[in-house]
Amino acid sequence: MPPTRAAAATTDGYRRRLIDLRDATALAVAALLDDVDLDAGPAGVTRSLVRWRERATTITVAAGERASALTVAYLSAYLVASGASPTSAIVPEATPDPSLLRTVRPALLYRLGQGTGRTVAMRTATATALRGARETVGRAAVTTLADGIRLEPQITGWQRVTSGRCCSRCAVLAGRVFRDNEGFDRHPACRCSHEPTVLGRAEAFRRQSPTVVAP
Ligand SMILES: [Zn+2]
Repeated sequence: MPPTRAAAATTDGYRRRLIDLRDATALAVAALLDDVDLDAGPAGVTRSLVRWRERATTITVAAGERASALTVAYLSAYLVASGASPTSAIVPEATPDPSLLRTVRPALLYRLGQGTGRTVAMRTATATALRGARETVGRAAVTTLADGIRLEPQITGWQRVTSGRCCSRCAVLAGRVFRDNEGFDRHPACRCSHEPTVLGRAEAFRRQSPTVVAP
């Protein structure tokens, strides 16, 4: 829980930017699948999927790096808004791991092999691409945030911030305070993030409980 309203607003602003970045990246990467020509024959399809992955990786890694940089800026802004001053601890920006984008090609080829039709196959590929890009960007941010929380002496721990709507598991976890070295549990498509607890600052600002929309 944040010590001040300003700190809470800092978290909210950061989360909005991060979710926008994640979604915009995922949509851009999925849109590039339009260039995959399913009439090009097996070798041609493979070539265009390889090309897709190169372009998707460039975009997603750049967005993951941006997410990590946003996260480093967020941590010091949050401390300042909490009435603390960040020490000079260097927070390493996480290197995005785009390996999830590899799953798009097998997913598409598997569906085509099943004979369920091109529309279904492309829908599967699109869903896989969206998920892969979102996760890559989201993980980069969460990794950077976890490292920053662990390294910054003024941060003693963290609480989980969910979106306004979330699953029951995340809602339960959101009620706990974790130590600064405790791991962050996340499921696919999770939109939660850490919010630091600051040394010597009372947690005065109470957030509204999320609405549970999934088990
Ligand atoms: Zn959840």
